[in-house]
Amino acid sequence: MKVLVPVKRVIDFNVAVRVKADRSGVDLANVKMSINPFDEIAVEEAIRLKEKGKVTEIIAVSIGPAGATETIRTALAMGADRGILVKHEGEIEPLAVAKILKAVATEEQAGLVILGKQAIDDDCNQTGQMLAALLGWPQGTFAAKLEIGDGEIQVTREVDGGLQTLALKLPAIVTTDLRLNEPRYASLPNIMKARKKPIAEKSAGDYGVDPAPRLKVLEVTEPQKRRSGAKVGSATELVAHLRGVGVI
Ligand code: AMP
Repeated sequence: MKVLVPVKRVIDFNVAVRVKADRSGVDLANVKMSINPFDEIAVEEAIRLKEKGKVTEIIAVSIGPAGATETIRTALAMGADRGILVKHEGEIEPLAVAKILKAVATEEQAGLVILGKQAIDDDCNQTGQMLAALLGWPQGTFAAKLEIGDGEIQVTREVDGGLQTLALKLPAIVTTDLRLNEPRYASLPNIMKARKKPIAEKSAGDYGVDPAPRLKVLEVTEPQKRRSGAKVGSATELVAHLRGVGVI
């Protein structure tokens, strides 16, 4: 069974995000970019399934600018087999991404698509769900555990206050949550090997998809700065203070 792992190039999670002066978006100039952390978890899970003999090939797909090749190489260095870069400059919305992924999954006859539950740049949490709807496949979102059986996959999901286990018929869509696994670091020999793994280059048009945005971002603002705290000398003083500001 082939597994498709969509990997998005996003601003590195350690970078302090700066909003552009005109509030039109986030400043990406000279900022470190990395694989979306939930997608790294998706790659790791696909590799573990391959190591267990449940998966034959792992294909990493990224839709983005030329720099997204690096993101695919990260997946290849971890253990994915080959890559597909669907070149696109500028913003692309989850629906267009899902339409492209539908075409790739169909062309590749993938049995499973493992996506991140959300991209940490747009926080949409939409692509996996839209892809499942477009393909008409079952979906298991926010996965904390996966087990492949005969023609089905069991997905243990993180839900409010507990876990829910579902059985989905394959082919299926899974989105990863944080506790699914801890991704491996790519070893130096594997980083070298990854340079030789093939990456096909495509465009949205090759899949018959119009990538034009349907939404317009009106404004992006920084979160409110946290106000500085005050030290109190005792619990009595704290209670008096909280009463004073109407908290209790
Ligand atoms: P989102 O719906 O934008 O929060 O993204 C959810 C997941 O969809 C991500 O974790 C990726 O697995 C996948 N995805 C979204 N955008 C892209 C993209 N441009 N290229 C590859 N995968 C993507």
